[in-house]
Formats: sequence, structure tokens, C-alpha cells
Amino acid sequence: MKLYNTLSKKKEEFTPLEEGKVRMYVCGPTVYNFIHIGNARPMIVFDTVRRYFEYKGYDVNYVSNFTDVDDKIIKKAIEEGVSSDEISKRYIAECKKDMEGMNVKPATTHPLATEEIGGMIEMIGALIEKGYAYEKNGTVYFRTRKFPDYGKLSHKNLDDLRSGERSLLVTGEDEKEDPLDFVLWKPKKEGEPSWESPWSDGRPGWHIECSEMSKKYLGEQIDIHAGGEDLVFPHHENEIAQSEAANGKEFAKYWMHNAFLNIDNRKMSKSLGNFRTVREISEQFDLQVLRFFMLSAHYRSPLNFSADLMDASKTGLERIINAADHLKFLTGNAKAEKMTEEEADAYAKTEEYVKAFETAMEDDFNTADAVAAVFDLVKYSNTTANADSAREYLENLRSLLTKLTDVLGLIVERKEEMLDADIEKLIEERQAARKAKDFARADEIRGELLKKGIILKDTREGVQWKRA
Ligand code: AMP
Ligand code: ZN
Repeated sequence: MKLYNTLSKKKEEFTPLEEGKVRMYVCGPTVYNFIHIGNARPMIVFDTVRRYFEYKGYDVNYVSNFTDVDDKIIKKAIEEGVSSDEISKRYIAECKKDMEGMNVKPATTHPLATEEIGGMIEMIGALIEKGYAYEKNGTVYFRTRKFPDYGKLSHKNLDDLRSGERSLLVTGEDEKEDPLDFVLWKPKKEGEPSWESPWSDGRPGWHIECSEMSKKYLGEQIDIHAGGEDLVFPHHENEIAQSEAANGKEFAKYWMHNAFLNIDNRKMSKSLGNFRTVREISEQFDLQVLRFFMLSAHYRSPLNFSADLMDASKTGLERIINAADHLKFLTGNAKAEKMTEEEADAYAKTEEYVKAFETAMEDDFNTADAVAAVFDLVKYSNTTANADSAREYLENLRSLLTKLTDVLGLIVERKEEMLDADIEKLIEERQAARKAKDFARADEIRGELLKKGIILKDTREGVQWKRA
């Protein structure tokens, strides 16, 4: 299996640190709002990577954090007049709902930065002891020049960085020994969440969070560290410096980065006003369509989001679901049980599609080609399965189709159609729950309906619903 390693800028053969196991860390979102469709890309991409390793029989320990202490969270908390904790808890819960809709498996562990502060303080202490970090007026900095490999991931050298140092010199950090040094610990400002430490009451820098959580849940050395390409520098570069300086070992063997998602051929940003949350998309489409859309491109290619492309994805996914559904229908009516010899031969031919699928996935997770292999299997199924086919043949085809689409995290089981009356009944129950301030139940009903492809919209005129 080959994967592109940002560290070597080459596709490399994957060899695990420990036979049959994969230790993988994916930087998770900062939780101050609903996740946007850009955040969804690494979630879907690396969940698919995980699923493929599992398909190959690896035991995957998959860790993905939530950054739940950060300037943006504090700002949002002040705006709403609530605690930072309330903001982060709220958006972690919302993020998990979106993940479920996109069929992103929960990680083996989802650590929260705020629950790992003790370990971070220890790691910072160890870095100071080894001379890799120093304290000035309550702030602790990493001594970047002391780490000779600095720049090896982003392929920048220290002198290039020096010439661009003005942008690195953040105001208020002019006490640094060197403009390249970065923060490991900072003292609190009035009203900010803080923790006691040997240096000041304060909070950790962002980069040290991941170094510590990766070490705690996966060990000092891991197989794969991943995230969006914007994280290569400085976040991942700094993580390498911290972890390798503290542990004295290579941190991650393979570094994987997804390219960015743009929207209508422009960068997605708040200032351009073209920001789309996953939740908004779920009001128009089943989130399976979003997942299918993401996988229709290679993860290292920029991907453009548009309504037209989403419509095309919906049609594409529908084709696979129709094939699976038709097989199910035929199976229910099959006259013969066991495959004939010809059918056994015909089924053996599907090996070709499995090979094409695996070849694509093993070439740096080329999901676009893997999807093409699934379409070929669909075509084969549509042309060879019919009312005269044996139950065994139909079941084999359907379970193969399900097996491959499951690696992509796509659910091909047609969602049960709900009767209008049943939907209305659940909506009424939800309204009653809201009236009684039982928001948990109200949310649960919304989620139940969403799973069945029913989208609710709360308007001033009441609750409206539609099928995805
Ligand atoms: P953040 O919450 O900004 O730390 O982002 C969480 C994850 O989403 C990181 O891996 C980012 O690299 C990734 N990400 C953010 N925006 C985009 C985007 N437009 N396209 C792809 N990935 C993104
Ligand atoms: Zn990280």
C-alpha cells in the first residue's frame, strides 16, 4: 500500500511500526461553531483511510482531538455571555451529530484539550529541562533554533523563515530570544479560562495540545499524523519539534494532508460570506451525498463545491443505491437457491472489480478511481442479475457491493420511506418535548427523522418538513 508522505514529498510503501496495527492521529476542529464543509473534508477522507486499513485487517487506533480552549471560543463565549465550556460542549455535540450524518466513525478516542492540561504541563517541563524551552514573564517559548530538523516537514529552512520573520513576530511576544520561537504556555488575560502551572496561571499553546494527546493515547511514535494542508506549517512543524525534542524519537512516520475545499471556485471564508456549514447542507441533501462528493476527487487535489456538483453526486449515489435495492428485490423473489455453474463463473468475474478497487485505494487512496470500480460493479450487476438469477448469486453480488461501499463509508441501504402521518406524529411529539423544555428528546426526534431522510425546518409559521 502506497501513501504520499508530506515529509519525503513522495509516495511511500506503508510499513506499520507494529505488525497488523495502525496508530493514527488526525487534528480535529476548534469547536466554536457548527463545522463547515471544509472541516468535513479531513473527517471524511481520513475516516475512509481508516476504513480501508480495517478492511485490510489492520487494527486501527484512531485518535482525533477537539480543540476546546482557544481565542475564538473565548470570543464567542463573551459575545453570548456564557462560559467557554458551554460553547465548546455545545459544538462538540453538534459536530458529533454531523459526523454521524456523514457516517464518519467515532474515533477510538476523542480527547479534549482541556482535560489533558496536566500532561501538557509535564511535557513543557521536560522541554525546559532539556533546554528546548524557556520561560519569560510567565510565558514559555520553544527554542526553535535548538531543534536542528526544524522545517523538515514544510521543507522550509530557518534562513527563509528568518527573512519572513516579521509575520512571525506577534505583538506582545517581543521578549522572545528569537522571532522564530513559538509559545508553549501563555498567562491568562482577565476573564479567560486558566490552569495553574509552575510558570503562571494560564493556558497551553495550540501546538503542544496535539503533541501531548498523541503521546498519551498512541505512544511516543505513531504511524500516521494527518490534517488539512494548512496545518503543515506551523502547526505540524511545531508538533514535530516539540515531540521529537521531548521524546528523542521520530514522532510520526507518515504525514498525510488533504487539499482545501473551495466553494464556487473561491476560497471559503467568513469575510467573503460564502461559508457553508455541514448543517446547512443537511437541509438540502442527505449527508451521504456530501460524503460521496468528497470521495469523488483525490484527497490531495483541491475540490470545488457547487450545487451542480452536489446534484451530480446525488445522481451518482442514487445509481449505486438503486442497484443494491434492485438486488434486494430480486433476492426476495428468487426461484432458485444455489448458483448454477455459469453463475459461479459470472460471480468469479467480479474479482476484477475488487482488484481495481484495491489497486486504486492502495495508490495513495485514490477514492475517485475506487468509486469508478464500484460503478463498474454496479453496471455488471445490472446486466447480469435478473428475475431468473439464483438467490445465492444475488446475495453474493449485494454483499460484495455493500462491502466495497462500506470501505468508502457509503450506506447503500435505501432509507425506509416513512409515511406522512408517522412523520407528522413525530413532529408533534417533538413540539411537545420542546414545550416541556425536554430539548434532548426534541433533538433526538430531529436526529431520528434525519436518519430517515426527513429534514425539518423551524419557521415562524411552524415546522416544515421535506424529504432529502
Ligand atoms: P480548524 O477547526 O480550523 O482547526 O480545522 C479543522 C480541520 O479542518 C483541519 O484539519 C483543517 O486543515 C481542515 N480544514 C479547514 N478548512 C478547510 C477547507 N476549506 N478545506 C479542507 N480542509 C479544511
Ligand atoms: Zn493538531
